[in-house]
Amino acid sequence: RCGFVAIVGRPNVGKSTLLNHILGQKISITSRKPQTTRHQVLGIKTEGNNQFIYVDTPGLHVKEEKALNRYMNRAASSAMKDVDLVLFVVDRDRWTDDDELVLRNLKNARCPIVLVINKVDRLDDKGQILPLIEALQTRHNFDDVVPVSALRGHNREELEGVIARFL
Ligand code: GDP
Ligand code: MG
Repeated sequence: RCGFVAIVGRPNVGKSTLLNHILGQKISITSRKPQTTRHQVLGIKTEGNNQFIYVDTPGLHVKEEKALNRYMNRAASSAMKDVDLVLFVVDRDRWTDDDELVLRNLKNARCPIVLVINKVDRLDDKGQILPLIEALQTRHNFDDVVPVSALRGHNREELEGVIARFL
């Protein structure tokens, strides 16, 4: 099995952290250069007969006045059409206009979308994310929801199991 997995979400939700942990290595993904590729392949993970190719989509920006932002928004939207699975990463405590934009763009996806609620290590009680999950599920019928801590590794194996199930 082989599949393309797009990790999407606004800046700072923990996409890079998640990817580094899934791959088990620190991949430098910060670049001062503008993203000129349609999508940037960040890493390949091979396990037995499974090969997952993780794709970093350019960030979506609400402010479209800059030509580069406009370009990246288009690139991010089209990248979502070319993958087998989308991981929509959100921060468990902050919902912004940029999240809103990403969520709206998910309508362009033609593949399963898994909602990944990150940074749950900061919660005393995991039940605190239930209202967020409910609110988001009414906006989009996600194919699965996985709370994780990219940083601490909570639920990473469960997430990888979910990914494998959809590919
Ligand atoms: P990106 O912009 O979406 O790629 O986000 P990064 O991976 O660069 O992470 C943004 C910040 O959030 C960094 O300071 C990370 O250390 C922090 N972060 C990422 N994941 C977690 C997490 O699971 N828990 C906590 N507490 N912080 C996290
Ligand atoms: Mg990043």
